[in-house]
Amino acid sequence: MKAINRREMMGSLGTLAAAGGWIGLTQNEAVAGETSTDGPLREYVLPPLPYDYDALEPHIDHQTMQLHHDKHHAAYVKGLNEAIAGLEAVRKSGSPDDLAKVRGLTDSLAFNGSGHLLHTVFWGNMKKGGGGEPKGALARQIERSFGSYSAFRAHFDAAATKVQGSGWGLLAWEPLSARLIVLAAEKHQNLTMFGCVPLLVLDVWEHAYYLKYQSDRTAYVKAFWNIIHWDNVDQRLSGAMKLTL
Ligand code: MN
Repeated sequence: MKAINRREMMGSLGTLAAAGGWIGLTQNEAVAGETSTDGPLREYVLPPLPYDYDALEPHIDHQTMQLHHDKHHAAYVKGLNEAIAGLEAVRKSGSPDDLAKVRGLTDSLAFNGSGHLLHTVFWGNMKKGGGGEPKGALARQIERSFGSYSAFRAHFDAAATKVQGSGWGLLAWEPLSARLIVLAAEKHQNLTMFGCVPLLVLDVWEHAYYLKYQSDRTAYVKAFWNIIHWDNVDQRLSGAMKLTL
């Protein structure tokens, strides 16, 4: 993939570069400079498993780990790079026919990007001889947010067990009110890439524009560009870019 103009990248994708820090990737996971905020953008790479395929036996078997990492996770990385390259080509062309591909490519970006990020976190979340109970700041925040470790665990178990079809159980930090939350993701995309930091958002629910624009969402989206507070967006970028390893 050719280097993408950094400003274009920020406009279309948000701070992918800062995402690694935000979700607390280790040095091993931030392989090949994915978290560098300067210089040309690089392709995503499959991080090596931080342990042998059989390290989690008997809880997760060797063959599952090998297939899951080498085939499934690798496919997310490949798909993510293809989506990024496809979007770059669309921006370069700018033709209406190519811009019509943005919906599908964004779907692919979200699906593969979230898959890459969540699997990277997942591998790091496990180790040979793991288990026990959390300690330190994590233990304190779990107590603060959920009441107790056992209550958190029951909550997490219920969320993960009841995911319809494919998905994830997640423990996440919610920065708006500074607390831990448990989430469940059904699939993992829905046009969102986990780990990205929102910088500029536009509400396109009908309640946000229907009184004035009725069904003409296009006109509402066009009008948005007349009222953006770019200094605010820039401040958010500065904050997001500080969230490094
Ligand atoms: Mn998986």
